[in-house]
Formats: sequence, C-alpha cells, structure tokens
Amino acid sequence: MAVPFLDLSRQYAYLKDELDAAAVRVLSHGQFILGPEVAQLEKEVAALCGVKHALGVASGTDALLLALRAAGVAAGDEVITTDFSFFSTAGVVARLGARPVFVDIEVDSYNLDPTLIEASITPRTKAIMPVHLFGQVADMDAVMEIARRHHLTVIEDAAQAIGAGYKDRRAGAIGDLGCFSFYPTKNLGAAGDAGMITTDSDELYDLCRILRVHGAEPKYYHRVVGYNSRLDTMQAALLLVKLPYLEEWSRKRIEHARVYDEAFAGLSGPRTPVVKDYSTFHIYNQYTIAVPAREELRAALQTAGIGSDIYYPVAFHRQECFQSLGYGVDDFPVAVKASGEVLALPIYPELTAGEQQAVINAVTKFVA
Ligand SMILES: *Cc1c(COP(=O)(O)O)cnc(C)c1O
Repeated sequence: MAVPFLDLSRQYAYLKDELDAAAVRVLSHGQFILGPEVAQLEKEVAALCGVKHALGVASGTDALLLALRAAGVAAGDEVITTDFSFFSTAGVVARLGARPVFVDIEVDSYNLDPTLIEASITPRTKAIMPVHLFGQVADMDAVMEIARRHHLTVIEDAAQAIGAGYKDRRAGAIGDLGCFSFYPTKNLGAAGDAGMITTDSDELYDLCRILRVHGAEPKYYHRVVGYNSRLDTMQAALLLVKLPYLEEWSRKRIEHARVYDEAFAGLSGPRTPVVKDYSTFHIYNQYTIAVPAREELRAALQTAGIGSDIYYPVAFHRQECFQSLGYGVDDFPVAVKASGEVLALPIYPELTAGEQQAVINAVTKFVA
C-alpha cells in the first residue's frame, strides 16, 4: 500500500464546505489587508496560548524576524540558539547582521541543551531562541532561569508547536515572545504563508505591531524602518475555520505516535521519540525516529511506496552560508549525529490504521 508522507487534500475534503464559504466571505467583503478575520484569529490564538497579545504576520520566518527586532537585536549582537532546526531560526539572526551562536542539542529530545547555554553567553548576547522541535517544548524553565539571571530576552521558536504543553503552560506563553508558523505542513496550516507572534508585554506587542506595517504609526509617519509583513485576511479566514479542530487533530497525532511507539518498542533498530516529563502535550508536528542506516531505511520505504522525510539533514554550523562563523565540522556532535540519523514518518491526523500498519510493516521488515 502506498502511503504519502503528507496529504493535505484530505483535510480540505473534510472541511471543504466551511473553507469554501470562508474564502467567499473574504472575497465578498474585500478587506484583504488586516480585515476583521485577522483580529479575530489573533484573539483566538492569544486565548489558546494563554497570552495577552497575538499579532498576525506574513510567515513564521517574519514572526521570528520581527520578534528579534522588537527585542532590540541589531548588527553585532549575538543570539544563542540550537544547532539543529529549520533554517529560519538561524537565518533571521544573520539577516539582522547579528551572530547566531549555536549550542548542541539533547540526545533524546533534539531540543537545545540548556546546560550548554551559559558557557556561550558573552557581553554581546542579547537573546536566547529555543526551538520546540517536532512539536515538543524545550526545557523552558531552565532556559528562563538563565535568561533572567543574565537579563536576556527569550524568543520561543514555536513554529512547530502551536498548542503544545509545557507543564501547565502552552508554547509561546513562556518566553518574552513566541513565534508561530501556519505554513501548510504545520499542525495548523494555511493555504500559503502565514505566521503569528505572541507576547504578554504591551511594549513588545506595540513594537511588533508597528514593525508589521513599515514601522509606521500613525500611517505614513515612520518611527522605525519596518517591514510589509501582514497576515492576509484570506489566510486568517481559512485558519479560523481550522482552529477549532486543532486540538482534536493534535490528539490524533499523539494516538498515531503511541501506535508507532508500541510497534517499534521491541525492535533493536529505531530510536523512537522521547517525551520529556515536563512536556505535557507533545503535538508531534513530526514523528521522528533515529536509525544509523537511515539512507537504507529511507530507500526501502520508498520502494514500498511509503513517504518519509529528513528534518534536518545538515546542522547549522555545517551549512555553507555559516562557514564564516568559524565553527569546526566536528563541533556539536549530538546535532551532527542526529542530522545523519533522523527520519520522519507519516503522522498526519487523517492517516488511516491500514496506512499506519503499512508503514510499521515496512520499517519492521527493514530492521528485522
Ligand atoms: C516552519 C518553521 C519556521 C518558519 O516558518 P515559515 O512560516 O515557513 O516562515 C521557523 N522555524 C521552525 C522551527 C519551523 O519549523
């Protein structure tokens, strides 16, 4: 049985009438830029995360960029982040002329190892940017304790973690700012690019709100040089339709993860994802296993018609564009090992029991 790695058409089929109606409503009222659906989505995401403010922006990448700007990060500053994430996390720091300072990850969670942060702090450090990779929140109490002691701003890259739980809080409500992506493959996905910034701070919210519209307040009077980074009304309208289903979809992902965990528990081969004790709601944007013979397993799955993907094949310090930072290829050995072994399996809510069994059979056959 062929099993696609991801199939967004199933979600559209499920919600077609509601989504079509929402799109038509926006086309009819014509308020395409910062229309009423944007404010409504901001309100609902703020409530979901348990924060005072949420601000819709053009993408998850822009959410990070505006958050860094609001935190005052500028040329010559340093931002401490993980060596193992999607490119945006480090790219936005470099785009501001600041230096991304990488730390290695925990072997079990793939999230940045907070015990390595303090040794990387210098007088130029402005912020710490933990990533909640694959939908599991990083060890935030440890991060926040260090940040408070050194007066650093914490920006959560929660792009993969909307609704994820850390103890009794949600992703995006722990640091000074939280950044979300509604890229179509995220747990809550738009029909294009979209993102959101969350914060409890009135001051940081105001800064982000102004940066979103070219730094202007009022219109045509520019306090700072900002960006054109609004969340489209059309995207907000579609996301409003999907938001009420998010929790149920994330629970389905958790159930799929449990089935995989059980099926792979007896095997000596794949290392399955570890849920940390503080991680009260791991939303599995990805279900990532680790196998030394990753390329061979991936080829075997492909032969069986089963989709898989690699998040991420290259650690940041080994990327060509970051060679000027001066890291050695053998720095950050845990991230390097992960980049050579990780493989993500299909985990979308609409995955059927039969399809999941086909994935399990193919993995088991390879490992046996
Ligand atoms: C998806 C993602 C981003 C970027 O979001 P876009 O909406 O694609 O710009 C940033 N960080 C992480 C960890 C992501 O997974």
